[in-house]
Amino acid sequence: MSWTMWLVPPIITSIFFTLGIITLYWSIFTWVTAKAESSRRPYNIKRVQVIVGTTCAVVSVFALQLIVRDSHLSWTFTNFQLLLLIFVAYFLALKIPNWLILLAGVGFMLLNGNVTAVLSWGYTFVYVLFYWLSYQQSTHLWRAPYTRYISVAAVFGLVLWLFVKTRFQLPWTTYWTEIGDYLVLASLMYGYFKIQDKDRRIKDRLFQSANWDALTHVQNYAAYDRAVSFHFHQSAAHQRNLGMIMFDIDHFKHINDTYGHLAGDEVLKQVASTVTTILKPFGSDVILYRTGGEEFNILLPDRDLNRARPIAQEVFDAVKGLTTTYNGQDLNVTISVGVSVLHERDRNPLDFYKRVDANLYHSKQTGRHRITAS
Ligand code: GH3
Ligand code: MG
Ligand code: MG
Repeated sequence: MSWTMWLVPPIITSIFFTLGIITLYWSIFTWVTAKAESSRRPYNIKRVQVIVGTTCAVVSVFALQLIVRDSHLSWTFTNFQLLLLIFVAYFLALKIPNWLILLAGVGFMLLNGNVTAVLSWGYTFVYVLFYWLSYQQSTHLWRAPYTRYISVAAVFGLVLWLFVKTRFQLPWTTYWTEIGDYLVLASLMYGYFKIQDKDRRIKDRLFQSANWDALTHVQNYAAYDRAVSFHFHQSAAHQRNLGMIMFDIDHFKHINDTYGHLAGDEVLKQVASTVTTILKPFGSDVILYRTGGEEFNILLPDRDLNRARPIAQEVFDAVKGLTTTYNGQDLNVTISVGVSVLHERDRNPLDFYKRVDANLYHSKQTGRHRITAS
């Protein structure tokens, strides 16, 4: 058998090519997430999926286009451009500003050598619209998703292929054959991706429940434990600062005993959400964890004591100023806080934690409602 002679119809090759790219993407995605898990580095599973998926799709389409660029056959891989769009916008749900898609489209035209063709510009504008609508579809839980998906794909496919047909003066038979192939591939992609994505969604949900606290919706002790270990080793290896704030609500038992456990729950939710908001301006690397019943920890990568102190003060003031209303009752709480930074003599994350905990204990012992930093 000689590979120089193709005896299979193009649609079969296209099917294997498309499914092959998705499989390649899936293998890389699984490999990257497994690596991230074993390195204990905190990561966002969705972001990894988007980066890996987009890279695979864009690289494969641009590589294909290089074969036919600037020739009378430069329309040959139009279906792959359409599938790339569907894959990134609909399946990966990657939000890209419209101007950036337009810019990518212009880049593509430059690569193709057809930037002066009016029809190519029309194609690019409709392509941007197609992206926008596909993204909207992916983020809304509308009914009959497959029917919507394939209808939108068909309408845009028909219009976009009309531009291509006109520009390259293709016969109608080519037009309809390409449209037929495109719809078969778009449907197959839907089924294949849904099956594959089920695994990711299960994994995502398990990851979510294992690392996030169901009551306050902040990360839990398991997540804290992983993060502190990661930052501890990073800081030790690269001589970087690491700060930690730990706080505990004062006389919380009193809230539960007087107003009931549900009132206590409401206070915990409000405290967590207030502190999360307060921490936002300090950057996405500053994260709040619920490490115990009414105990919370905040990790501060790259912060020394002078930078950790004002953050602790803001958290302290925010909780003090917070009033939680439950069943018509206004509830106010205060916190005791311990702050410290990583020392060279700390041999493990626990040594570091103990010092922060001792500072918190000191705040409690000396009358509560205060910050101890050392
Ligand atoms: P201190 O100022 O010394 O911290 O006094 P405290 O009363 O806050 O401390 P203690 O550790 O004795 O009590 C903490 C209480 O927090 C006990 C527990 O019932 C309550 N608690 C722990 N988790 C939850 C929760 O999820 N919801 C509610 N409502 N209460 C909780
Ligand atoms: Mg307490
Ligand atoms: Mg406590």
